[in-house]
Amino acid sequence: MDSHPSPAGDLPGDGFRGRDAGAERAEFDEPRCEHVEEQETETRMKAIVDQDTCTGCGLCEQTCPQVFEMDGGTARTKVAVVPVEAETLCRDAMEGCPVEAISLEE
Ligand code: SF4
Repeated sequence: MDSHPSPAGDLPGDGFRGRDAGAERAEFDEPRCEHVEEQETETRMKAIVDQDTCTGCGLCEQTCPQVFEMDGGTARTKVAVVPVEAETLCRDAMEGCPVEAISLEE
C-alpha cells in the first residue's frame, strides 16, 4: 500500500521546500524592497537657497553647477529635483556654503 497519497510527497526535498519557503521568499523580497526605496530616494531631494541669507559668493555654483547657478547677486537652484548623480555634490555645496543658506529636503 502506498503511504504517500500525493505524488508530490514522493519528490525528494519536497518537505524541505515547504518548510523553508518563507525564508526563501524573505531573502528574495528584501533586495526588491531596497530597490523600491532607492527609486523613491532618487526623486525626493530638493535644494533650496535662502535668498535673504545668500551672500552671492558663487561657491555652490562652482561645487555643483548641475543644481546651482548665480542669478544677479544670489544663487538659485536651476532644477526642481536634484538629479541622483548630483546628490553628493549638492550635499557638498550645502556643507560648503559659508553662511548656511542652502537647505536640502529629502
Ligand atoms: S555658497 Fe551659499 S552664499 Fe555662496 S552663492 Fe551659494 S548659497 Fe549663496
